[in-house]
Amino acid sequence: MNIPFVDLKTQYLSLKGEIDKAIFDVIEDLSFVGTSNNKYVSEFENKFSEFTTAKYCIACANGTDSLEISLKALGIGIGDEVIVPSLSWIATSEAVSNIGATPVFVDIEPEYYTIDVNKIEEKITTKTKAIIPVHLYGHPADMEKILKIASKNNLKVVEDCAQAHGAKINGKVVGTFGDLGSFSFFPGKNLGAFGDAGGIVTNNEALAKACRMISQHGQLDKKHYHYIEGRNSRMDGIQASVLNVKLEYLTRWNDLRNEKALLYSNLLNGLPIQLPKGKSGNFHAFHLYVIRCECRDDLMKYLGERGIATAIQYPTSLPFLEAYKQGKHIKEHFPISYEYQSKILSLPIFPELTSEQVVFITDQITGYFSK
Ligand SMILES: *Cc1c(COP(=O)(O)O)cnc(C)c1O
Repeated sequence: MNIPFVDLKTQYLSLKGEIDKAIFDVIEDLSFVGTSNNKYVSEFENKFSEFTTAKYCIACANGTDSLEISLKALGIGIGDEVIVPSLSWIATSEAVSNIGATPVFVDIEPEYYTIDVNKIEEKITTKTKAIIPVHLYGHPADMEKILKIASKNNLKVVEDCAQAHGAKINGKVVGTFGDLGSFSFFPGKNLGAFGDAGGIVTNNEALAKACRMISQHGQLDKKHYHYIEGRNSRMDGIQASVLNVKLEYLTRWNDLRNEKALLYSNLLNGLPIQLPKGKSGNFHAFHLYVIRCECRDDLMKYLGERGIATAIQYPTSLPFLEAYKQGKHIKEHFPISYEYQSKILSLPIFPELTSEQVVFITDQITGYFSK
């Protein structure tokens, strides 16, 4: 049995009629680019703010831009420092550098892979302006503690929700805890377009306005009236129309991800591997189902030979990337993320993954450990 890491084809085929129509509507209307009067983009912004319960949603070109625009809207720039977790996709720290500030890495905590809230305060300096918690793999970061630290130290909070659309803490959707919530709609994310797309949510009107201006050349509603210099970061009409269709299914898809995760965990229980955990009160969006074991590389090879695609998110944690070598980071400063980079393995998880496929995968893993 060949099992892909994600299966966007099956998802497309299950919605083909709806999606094809949505795309053709945009073409018929020539509503290609998300300027302020693009009805598909506005519809998505309204729907997504409703989904997250945030007052405002600003669509933009991708999830890296949504981080950069958020930081800029907060007035962060040259000479400032922003705290980020040591384990994330590079976009999180890259966004900080791209606006002229410096990312300051904090190790992750060992159970949930999110930023270790007990190690944040020791990294705060007079230059620190913000924290970017990442809800990595779909598990919410500890927002209660992060917000406490932020308010005590007068810091802003931008949540990186790129892997956590619909994840919740005590019933409240992530993205609405911090000053701003940043989302990516890259095709493989829990809510994915057919190309690049991103979005920002906030309850703060002034920040919403600032994000809107930055993303569309400093304009708000009046064409050729530029309040500031901004940039070009618009969502395409076609991407918005695909997202409008798919957003209706997101809750169901997240539930299916959870069902598959639970099945994995039941079937893998008792093997010498660490299974993903969800903190009580949290709803895990299971963008990824990440296990840990000593024999990661060997197990990955074994599963690959049996047709099962797996991945590593991420094989090198941020401080140890070539891109950050000037920081001369040492493993003693990031012991958890350093240790985990050789142990973590992401198994296939997507809403269309069948129970039979999960059973096949877990049978192979059980077989590996009994050989
Ligand atoms: C995907 C991702 C991003 C960036 O999103 P793009 O849309 O690819 O720019 C940012 N942060 C995290 C944690 C991600 O997984």
